[in-house]
Amino acid sequence: MKIQKKPPRPFIVYYLIVIGIVLLMNTLLPTLWQEKITQVDYGTFMRLIENGSVKKVEAQDKQIGFIATDDNGKDAIFVTGRMEDPDLANRLYQANVTEFSQVIPQETSPILGLLLSWVLPLVFFIVLGRILSGKVLNKMGGMGNAMTFGKSNAKIYVEAQTGITFKDVAGQDEAKEALKEIVDYLHSPQKYKAIGAKVPKGALLVGPPGTGKTLLAKAVAGESKVPFFSISGSEFVEMFVGMGAARVRDLFKQAQAKAPCIVFIDEIDTIGKSRTAGGFSGNDEREQTLNQLLTEMDGFEADKGVVILAATNRPETLDKALLRPGRFDRRIPVELPDLAGREAILRVHAKKVNLGEDIDFNVIARATSGASGADLANIINEAALRAVRMGRKAITQNDLEESVEVVIAGYQRKNAVISMKDKLTIAYHEIGHALVAAKQENSAPVHKITIVPRTSGALGYTMQVDETEKVLLTKEQALDKITTFMGGRAAEELIFSTITSGAANDIEQATKIARTMVTRYGMSDTFGMMALETVNNPYLSSDTTLLVSGETASKIDEEVLSIIKTCYNRALEILKENKDKLHELAKYLLEKETLTGEEFMAAIA
Ligand code: ADP
Ligand code: MG
Ligand code: ZN
Repeated sequence: MKIQKKPPRPFIVYYLIVIGIVLLMNTLLPTLWQEKITQVDYGTFMRLIENGSVKKVEAQDKQIGFIATDDNGKDAIFVTGRMEDPDLANRLYQANVTEFSQVIPQETSPILGLLLSWVLPLVFFIVLGRILSGKVLNKMGGMGNAMTFGKSNAKIYVEAQTGITFKDVAGQDEAKEALKEIVDYLHSPQKYKAIGAKVPKGALLVGPPGTGKTLLAKAVAGESKVPFFSISGSEFVEMFVGMGAARVRDLFKQAQAKAPCIVFIDEIDTIGKSRTAGGFSGNDEREQTLNQLLTEMDGFEADKGVVILAATNRPETLDKALLRPGRFDRRIPVELPDLAGREAILRVHAKKVNLGEDIDFNVIARATSGASGADLANIINEAALRAVRMGRKAITQNDLEESVEVVIAGYQRKNAVISMKDKLTIAYHEIGHALVAAKQENSAPVHKITIVPRTSGALGYTMQVDETEKVLLTKEQALDKITTFMGGRAAEELIFSTITSGAANDIEQATKIARTMVTRYGMSDTFGMMALETVNNPYLSSDTTLLVSGETASKIDEEVLSIIKTCYNRALEILKENKDKLHELAKYLLEKETLTGEEFMAAIA
């Protein structure tokens, strides 16, 4: 972890402090001085000499200082202006003043004078200029490196030991299996050499964000106990053209010197983008960096013991040259965890916190399908924070369930003001979803119904959790899903004969499913098994591109609309048949605000 540097105090602050001190000395010192020395006129001085009270005299260029017994009989220091008085020495002698002298004015040596008046200010300004320009250049982003052009900072990315092992990575067994070979090779390369096998030079970890790609790379380093050079793709992209390439060169030079070792390039898509994509000017730098990377990867033999790992969640944008054999020839998918994987990840992260007696990770894992490892780590942490807030010493199942909802829908808005009428509508809407789900064969069981508003904007929701993880979606399940989404609006219409904006999210999700059924799953009669859309990026978002003509596109829309309409009518049917239950349950929910799956099922039966 990086230690945050304290922000440097602006230079002007030091400047002001120094000025302040100088001013203070200028005003204070003379007054201190003046308290001790009494200024007198020349006449008094002469009178005091004649009195014989002067003891010691020191004549300077402009003034005469002397010690004399004052009126109170005490010795005091006096000073007077110097007058043209050639006879003074005589008179002092006669008045028995024992010590009198003329101070010899101090001649500053010419060399010292030169130093003080010329060299010192020059040095001062040079130093000042250095400091200031350094600061300015730093602000301009790394241009301060201009002097050390071409030297990368790769050195500082070496962590001798990451301290992370495969034990810290839950699930992802296939990825670990593939990486174990690399670990084994780094441990005993001679085994591979003896048989003449070439170990892949590079492996590319590919998967959605938060699935543990970076974590896996660190675990490989931890397991093989070799130096770990880690650099993020964006760090190669520099202000000067050529800097990125220089960094790559430097990084590989260092890595080869430290072999066997692992070089990890995170977010490699920043530099590895396909060179043909988007002929934007200013790509020069990135292109040079990529070319250098390709050259370096070809330049060393795999048996040197340098293994290159890279991670990306946009593999489709990578340049083909990076992926050919001899470079990143091994591709390791790191997918979103399945049910067992999620449970394992929860357990790994739960080791760091205090757990109560009643924890059931399986329930949490089932409720979080689609969550990444990072999400799950976050859920455990949210639960721990909630336990602290509640003043407890350990996490309960309740904390975990609540934090799942926090991650899905945001925090509860406890003091949101919602009118009774709206609350009633929301209650009917949610029970509408739940009832439709319960009355269909292919819907997941209802886990929770709530009308407590959340910070995400959700006014209430119905949570369904499958008993087991489904990898395949049947047409019936898909239709039942859409029908369940329709249940909310259908209940509103049936009971209040009016409709509200509350169904916006339901409509969006239902449309998405219906559209996918038609365009990608081949579940419509009109088109059958024709691919009408492709997914652009399987890992980042579900953005798709239509593959068909405008005419077909409008036919797709018709088809989608008809699916949704049919489902809506079915939802309406189900609710009409169960109107009594709908009334009863809506009242129940309004009263309790949150119903568990069991409470709901008991009320239905
Ligand atoms: P990526 O690089 O794939 O975006 P990271 O490796 O940075 O994701 O993972 C982020 C965090 O999520 C990790 O630090 C870890 O706490 C948690 N995490 C992700 N996947 C796993 C896993 N399989 N096992 C344990 N923790 C995980
Ligand atoms: Mg990462
Ligand atoms: Zn709804």
